[in-house]
Amino acid sequence: MTSIFSTASEMAESLKQKEISSVELVQMHYDRIEKVDSGVHAFLHLDKAGALAKAKIIDDKRAAGEKLSPLAGIPLALKDVLTQKNQPTTCGSKILENWRPPYDSTVVERLNANDVVILGKTNMDEFAMGSSTENSAYGPSRNPWDLTRIPGGSGGGSSASLAAFEAPLAIGTDTGGSIRQPAAVTGTVGVKPTYGTVSRYGLIAFSSSLDQAGPCARTVLDAALLHQVIAGYDEKDSTSINQPIPDVVAAAKKGEVKGIKIGVVKEFQGEGYQKGVLNRFQESLDILVNLGAELVELSCPSFDYALAAYYLIAPSEASSNLARFDAMRYGLRISETAGQSAEEVMRITRGKGFGPEVKRRIMLGTYALSSGYYDAYYGSALKVRTLIKRDFEKAFSQVDVLVSPTAPTTAFKIGEKANDPLAMYLNDICTIPTNLAGIGGMSLPAGLAEEDNLPVGFQIMAPVMQDDRLYNVGAALERALHEKWGGNILKQIPDLNNLVGIFAGKGSN
Ligand code: GLN
Repeated sequence: MTSIFSTASEMAESLKQKEISSVELVQMHYDRIEKVDSGVHAFLHLDKAGALAKAKIIDDKRAAGEKLSPLAGIPLALKDVLTQKNQPTTCGSKILENWRPPYDSTVVERLNANDVVILGKTNMDEFAMGSSTENSAYGPSRNPWDLTRIPGGSGGGSSASLAAFEAPLAIGTDTGGSIRQPAAVTGTVGVKPTYGTVSRYGLIAFSSSLDQAGPCARTVLDAALLHQVIAGYDEKDSTSINQPIPDVVAAAKKGEVKGIKIGVVKEFQGEGYQKGVLNRFQESLDILVNLGAELVELSCPSFDYALAAYYLIAPSEASSNLARFDAMRYGLRISETAGQSAEEVMRITRGKGFGPEVKRRIMLGTYALSSGYYDAYYGSALKVRTLIKRDFEKAFSQVDVLVSPTAPTTAFKIGEKANDPLAMYLNDICTIPTNLAGIGGMSLPAGLAEEDNLPVGFQIMAPVMQDDRLYNVGAALERALHEKWGGNILKQIPDLNNLVGIFAGKGSN
């Protein structure tokens, strides 16, 4: 029987067999959202009327015998960083409150063209800056495994919606880890595709040379099905790669690691890593070896400087990208008294419209780019970026994929790191090098840490344009782990129905 607990591929099969209609499937998810989202706060906005109307059209098409895309009629949660025509698109910020974009992002266009039904927009750290969703101007999302904890960030709304069974699929964006770290801490699957393979048109820019949208799901195959829908060349994005996308769905169905060389990054272990994280990581390595993979320990010495380089490059690009929010063209405009100059209105609006983390990044970036400091900071960071790329190239000349824990710890408590930006930044230590090098990365669940019974993520990284390798290795590991657990790790999640009451209303401001 199809239920909210089914995978997207199971739902797709039921739709195809006409055991259920898309309208029923979509309604089922809205019922769930109504029940649990007051506690989880995964969504910022729902488009119930639009989604149900869309589902009805798809059901009619199916009834008429039209050939439909594999994910036609399946509901999806969309991170609020991507424009959707006439739907609120806030990017988690007050500065875009009430803004309704006049156009669809390419990702949304592709979802629509494939008849995927968008349920609504998910919560996120303001302008995708953060690792916990606590930087959202609309209050944090909560981790369905433990509602006192963070669901990761910046795409915590998307990951929480999956783990809470409010949606079977979601879209995230990953600048330094915002798809993979939320996947890790919620026991879900998240993929950052190779940079340039998913269009950034209509993706509100944080750090343009790093930002990349990608699929979030509860299984590797579901992620692959969504990956296939959103990836591909787009002439509207000048950084889009005009090359065929590897067959990620075939890879996800294959899952065969015999003879594959897997590099274990030495730098991503040891001090600062939770014991349960390292234990689950080691167990996954043992499984891969049992399945016939060969392990190679590798050193990527420049990775030690990735975090420092990222926190110069990303804020530098952000300081420039966020200059467009000037109170003049669109979004919030605050003028306190009549006759204020445009400059004053800009200052007041930006002062009130941006939260503290966004301001911190704008200041950091503006400073790093200022004349006299450019070479010392931004210029040096770019050099480190090149060294990191070379480390990857060297590693991939010896192995097919690299692996590491996705994040050094499991989900921390809401509030625990909110006043310590550096501690927050450290959560992305394993995910950032991938973004700097433009390669693809996946996080999938590796089990629960023994200290706290919370999900641990296993990260796989592959060379540019070889994202199929992520799915092949991921599928092999997932199959073995599901066998061990007797199914998906999310089967072990505590029953949300008992918990949400306590937290209802505390998610949002
Ligand atoms: N947590 C990182 C940051 O704050 C990465 C965010 C992201 O990937 N969007 O910049």
